[in-house]
Amino acid sequence: MNLAINGGALVVLIGPSGSGKTTFAARHFRPTETVSSDECRALVSDDESNQAATPAAFRVLHAIVRERLRAHHTTVVDATNVKSRSRQPLLAAARKFGAPAIAIVFDMPLELCLERNRARPTLSLPEDVIRRQHDEMTRSLPDIEGEGFEHIHVLDSVSAVDTATLAL
Ligand code: ATP
Ligand code: MG
Repeated sequence: MNLAINGGALVVLIGPSGSGKTTFAARHFRPTETVSSDECRALVSDDESNQAATPAAFRVLHAIVRERLRAHHTTVVDATNVKSRSRQPLLAAARKFGAPAIAIVFDMPLELCLERNRARPTLSLPEDVIRRQHDEMTRSLPDIEGEGFEHIHVLDSVSAVDTATLAL
């Protein structure tokens, strides 16, 4: 699949933990184009897994997203983004600054996400968290259509992820 990404776009990665968002972002985008919730947690608390830092981390993440879109820089949001409520402020920023919004959904099998989580040397999450995120993503799929994204790309297998190319 060739994913069209206009310059200055907001690119929202959507998928549970272990679905491959960070790996994909590192492969296709410059480090400064990607704003990650884990990195923002580390910025505000020195610990990317510190869940207590989540509200502060997202305030920082949203501020960076707004400033980058205001300046028409392509901005990739690397967070699970599985809830409509978490996508809304991102889409609002894109609308405000006239940036096209593109969704990339990592619709990977739950078992694969759990397996990758188990294999992680650090930062592995409780399985019920990943089950819930996977369920939220699946339930979100029909809603994403009506949220205001210009393109929605659903990658539904590892080979779809690995063979995806980006037209920038
Ligand atoms: P989180 O939401 O927890 O940050 P994530 O969606 O960013 O998770 P990654 O960190 O990219 O997920 O990937 C999780 C694990 O799966 C990593 O160990 C990574 O090496 C492996 N992985 C990711 N994508 C692929 C892929 N396309 N092929 C093989 N392994 C992959
Ligand atoms: Mg990640």
